[in-house]
Amino acid sequence: MSWIDDPAFAADRPFGPQTLPYGVVETADGPSVAVRVGDHALPLRPIADEFTGELADLVSAESLDALLAAGRPAWSALRARLRELVTATAAPDGAVLLPLADAQVRLPFTVGDYVDFYSSRHHAENVGRIFRPDGEPLLPNWTHLPVGYHGRAGTVVVSGTDIPRPHGQRKGDAGPVFGPSVRLDIEAEVGFVCGGPPARRVSTSAAAEHIFGVALVNDWSARDIQAWEYVPLGPHLGKSFATSIGAWITPLEAFAAARVPVVEPDHPRLDYLVEDAHWGLDIRLEVVWNGTMVSRPDFTQMSFSCAQQLAHMTVNGATVRPGDLFASGTVSGPDKRQRGSFLELSWSGKEPLTLDDGTERTFLEDGDTVVITATAPGPDGTVVGLSEVVGTIVAAVD
Ligand code: CA
Repeated sequence: MSWIDDPAFAADRPFGPQTLPYGVVETADGPSVAVRVGDHALPLRPIADEFTGELADLVSAESLDALLAAGRPAWSALRARLRELVTATAAPDGAVLLPLADAQVRLPFTVGDYVDFYSSRHHAENVGRIFRPDGEPLLPNWTHLPVGYHGRAGTVVVSGTDIPRPHGQRKGDAGPVFGPSVRLDIEAEVGFVCGGPPARRVSTSAAAEHIFGVALVNDWSARDIQAWEYVPLGPHLGKSFATSIGAWITPLEAFAAARVPVVEPDHPRLDYLVEDAHWGLDIRLEVVWNGTMVSRPDFTQMSFSCAQQLAHMTVNGATVRPGDLFASGTVSGPDKRQRGSFLELSWSGKEPLTLDDGTERTFLEDGDTVVITATAPGPDGTVVGLSEVVGTIVAAVD
């Protein structure tokens, strides 16, 4: 029996000892690197004496930045030592457990460059049909490369941060009009946090050296702003006002039992996108809107893996650095209730959803709260959790 007295810290629960995601919480001594154990946070600085060498410095830090830079051998060594400590029968000297309900989390790392992909065929086809009803739903490049764009790293916010409704231009009957977005939406995505030595032209087989961990992302999207601005250079202000990321980064190692092939391509891919191991992940998401579960997006339906996305992102010679973040693109499956955006779920506002309280929704209203969670298969029949990403819409700021 572990010294951690929390029924949620059990091998048959998503945040048992098989998961151990990292975050940063406020403590009496300032921010501290921490690990999630069940429904508690365990700050690591107070127990830094339990670690040796480089690991003692990494767990004494105020953010995950140094850990991200330290690379795969340090990540594995720290995880192994943590497993020993949290499954021991006696608590380490000085250990403090903070209930997550009371813990104040921080954005756990300094976000470097941020890239958002578009790798769900179902999502891309749905959006294509909605935005370009007279054209082919998929553009010709889509099946050959993971389409993406550079997002705004400075507006990535930690789960729990309120999201003010963005202002912007949208198309009106007699020219553009300006004001708060009237078609505010979510995109349920899986994000990948990069680390290890800076590198260019990362092959798919080197992905594990440069991906530290996985976190859920909500790519808030103002569809009215986006639809007017996106031609010909892609998303801009309709996305850049805020992107939420889960507070706890689940290490890539935790997904060893969740590896699956991505959806088979229509045609052979260029060599740099060919994998020698499967890097798709069997992650199942849930989207809850004001307490009503409205969708279960299925990450096994993606057409490009994180390894292919990272290879593509760096194949031109661009460098990946610790703290870079990339996200999968909206996760949508073939069924209506697997769609990862309200644009798709409400078919551009034409098919409202009825929530459990009887209210109808197409896009987000002020005060609405969206919670995205996910799980994946863990080792030995266990389940690995991805921490929730939560956000509430508040009125536009004047
Ligand atoms: Ca997106």
